[in-house]
Formats: sequence, structure tokens, C-alpha cells
Amino acid sequence: MTDAHAARSGVGVVVVAAGSGSRLGASLPKAFVPLAGRPMLAWALETVAALPGLRSLVVVVPEALADPSLPPWSAVSLPVGAHVVAGGAERTESVAAGLAALDPGCDVVLVHDAARCLTPVAVFERVVAAVRAGADGVVPGLAVVDTVKTVDADGVVTGTPERTTLRAVQTPQGFPREVLLAAHASGMVATDDAALVERTGHRVVVVDGDPMGFKVTTPEDLERAERLAGGPRALGGGSPGATSGRSAGLTSSP
Ligand code: C5P
Repeated sequence: MTDAHAARSGVGVVVVAAGSGSRLGASLPKAFVPLAGRPMLAWALETVAALPGLRSLVVVVPEALADPSLPPWSAVSLPVGAHVVAGGAERTESVAAGLAALDPGCDVVLVHDAARCLTPVAVFERVVAAVRAGADGVVPGLAVVDTVKTVDADGVVTGTPERTTLRAVQTPQGFPREVLLAAHASGMVATDDAALVERTGHRVVVVDGDPMGFKVTTPEDLERAERLAGGPRALGGGSPGATSGRSAGLTSSP
């Protein structure tokens, strides 16, 4: 790697946490709902802070909580150098707001759902490695156990995709920074970032996801997360950040 490249490279992470969490039925925005005593966002940020080569971190939250001195932030340890910005009505808008605040020196960008608060750091590392190996887009995914049907507006089945071709995808999703910026500049909206990158004609690959990367959406998901958060990770064996050391802040080198 040349000195010039080393000076430019590094991983940027956008953590999107601006959803309302209406399906969770909580009074706080979902990312600030406690999981085993700490907001889900705190769990997610602890893992991101452990990512080797982290250069820039942007946390996207509801506008009303964009000031980290507000009480809901008190149990969240915001890594030194991290930025907090307000999100939008759609996830795509929230990601775009985060990208705009990211250090332009990052060559790899990951976008992560705060709601996937127990995702192990090993998944982040797999995604970064695959982007660095040349992929235009990388998503962690798991094989699908249920048979999946497509349906029309009346609930009539229109097809049954071959199950072996399906993957349930998670975050973090990773991209070369320029590819993700171009995909967002297209103005399209999607429920994940890879879909935008796919639609702009790029090749997206799947790496192994992790069962701990499930998204907390319903009260039942939160109960499951509570059980898991009090499990092996509480004993130090399965912490999302356990495969790497903690970092106190952001680095300027890969
Ligand atoms: O709504 P959904 O479950 O797909 O949200 C996935 C992630 O995107 C969550 O972490 C949520 O906080 C975030 N989000 C956001 N801005 C929105 C909607 C969702 O940051 N407008």
C-alpha cells in the first residue's frame, strides 16, 4: 500500500438508529429501548468501536434525540470522534444523512442497523474483508429454513422460489464508498442499501451472517435478545466485540 493510499483508507460505519420502533410498542425510539439495562444503541456501538481500522463513525437518530447530551443518551458510550446526525422518515434517507457526515477519507463504508444490536464484530470483519477483496457490495446472510412464497395483493400465491437460492440478509452491509454514494445519489428508495447498489448494476456478494444478527422488531424479539444478552456474552465468551480488543476512539489508519 502506498503512503498516499494509507492516508486515504479506513473504514467508515453509519449506524442507523432513527426508526420509531412502533412495532415494538415502546415509548422511546427503538434504539434507545433498554436491553439488559443498556439501550440497544449502546450494545451496537460497543461492537462497532471494536472494529479494527475504524476511521469514522456516524450515528443517525431521530431528530428529537440528535443532541447526545439528552437524558436517553446517558447510558450510551459514544466513541470519541463519532458524529450524531438526525435521520429521515425512511431508512434510505437516514442512511443518506449518515453518509453525508462520514469522513471522506474512508475507502470502505458499512451501514448497520442499530436494531441488530447483538451482531458479533466477526461479521463486520468478514464484510470489510470481502469489500477489500474487490466486491462492489457485501451482505451477511443466512440460509432460509422456511419455504417462501410470493403473493399478490389478494394473498394469492404467485410463486415459490427455490429455497436453496434464498438468503435472509442482515447488516452490516459493506461497499466501496464511491459505489454506495453513487447508489444513494440515484434517488431510489429501498429497505436495504445492497438493493440500491444492485439496481445500479453492481455485483453484490453474500458472506456468512450470524444468528445473533437478528433484528429486534417485536416485543418477542426483545425478549429473545434479553435472554441472549444475559447468556454467554455476559460471561465474556460470546460478546459481539470479543474477537477484537476494545478501542477508545476512532483511528486515522486502516
Ligand atoms: O424499520 P426497520 O426495521 O427496517 O429499521 C432498520 C433500521 O433502520 C433500524 O435500526 C432503524 O432505527 C433504522 N431506521 C432509520 N430511519 C428510519 C427508519 C429506520 O434509521 N426512518
